[in-house]
Amino acid sequence: MSKIKMNPIVEMDGDEMTRVIWQAIKDELLSPFVELNTEYYDLGLPNRDATADRVTVDAAEAAKRLHVAVKCATITPNAQRVEEYKLHEMWKSPNATIRAALDGTVFRAPIMTDRIKPVVSTWEKPITIARHAYGDVYKATEYRVPGPGKAELVFTGEDGETFRRTVYDYECAGVLQGMFNKDSSIEAFARSCFEYALSVKQDLWFSTKDTISKQYDQTFKFIFQRIFDAEYAEKFAAAGIEYFYTLIDDAVARVIRSKGGFIWACKNYDGDVMSDMVSTAFGSLAMMTSVLVSPDGNFEYEAAHGTVTRHYYRYLKGEETSTNPVATIFAWSGALRKRGELDGNAALTAFADKLEKAVLDTINAGIMTGDLALLCPDPDVQKVTTTGFLKAVRERLER
Ligand code: NAP
Ligand code: MG
Repeated sequence: MSKIKMNPIVEMDGDEMTRVIWQAIKDELLSPFVELNTEYYDLGLPNRDATADRVTVDAAEAAKRLHVAVKCATITPNAQRVEEYKLHEMWKSPNATIRAALDGTVFRAPIMTDRIKPVVSTWEKPITIARHAYGDVYKATEYRVPGPGKAELVFTGEDGETFRRTVYDYECAGVLQGMFNKDSSIEAFARSCFEYALSVKQDLWFSTKDTISKQYDQTFKFIFQRIFDAEYAEKFAAAGIEYFYTLIDDAVARVIRSKGGFIWACKNYDGDVMSDMVSTAFGSLAMMTSVLVSPDGNFEYEAAHGTVTRHYYRYLKGEETSTNPVATIFAWSGALRKRGELDGNAALTAFADKLEKAVLDTINAGIMTGDLALLCPDPDVQKVTTTGFLKAVRERLER
């Protein structure tokens, strides 16, 4: 059998258990079928430290050049990791560096199987959360107000002109917060959402609280609508999908009653809260995919979970672990499918589909890793190791 050929994608290797799984996926499920063509960057913590984190910056630049990247989970160093890896510095989160370079939005979507039922029984299709990861309460200035006095919101323009509004005349102690966002970031968020909706051909919902926040949230609503009308209305119509704006509280009620199968764009805080609610209701962190989409159409695929440190320490002791590789496999299939779509490489796109189907068929046949077996009480379920699972997927893929 001749292997499928492809143009290059960016491969970002990572850390710990996911690094082990990364290699196993390539050996067992990809290299036998595809002539893998990747520009390889080792984002494992030892190499980030050795290159003074240059490798992360280079990998992000490569993602802009090749437009498609796949990333393994990586350690975000804290004090304990600095000690463990004898680091020169507490390097920044690679995801933060890459997100800043691509100016992108993160989309998180659950992988659904017939075996594992969402907690919300009406959900038949995945719900993808798009979270604006800039500004608002995460970059707010705040303090405790010590006692009676006047709080004002002041803006001084470059030309010296000043806006001044009273926030509150305090008659006692309290709290005060000032937060911001900027048009350029909201515009990039909007374009990333519209691009992603087109790329997966799903409706896009967006929600804020613009009835209460008549300047702040309404700006989000207006920017989305302006960009949609000017740049995306025709493309959406051609793709047979819709853009739908509603208030956040109405959105929550509609999401719970819905069948799923759409993208829900959320402001920073809403996205933080709603993504954990939606992912938990769908089942397992090990079944969440994540893709960073930049407003000019660059895509970086990864699993939503981390490096699964607890399993890695057991692996180092020689234990065979039952770590779930599904989200990492789907990161690869997502990247290969996108490469295929961008290049008109139908064989590569078809391979990505078959790989995902082989994974879902394996789970639906009752063969799964420990985390899923716990969610699935059926008597025929067979709990397997990571290696056992990959072999079972390989058998189906070969068929
Ligand atoms: P984690 O790696 O996601 O793992 C937390 C726990 O969730 C695991 O101990 C395991 O539970 C379960 N789990 C997660 N993924 C699983 C999988 N594929 N299969 C089976 N179980 C899975 O989070 P963490 O332990 O908080 O973080 C570990 C490291 O990952 C940290 O250094 C952090 O900086 C990094 N991290 C990286 C990313 C990223 O690169 N995108 C994201 C998050 C965290 P049990 O132990 O109970 O089985
Ligand atoms: Mg959170």
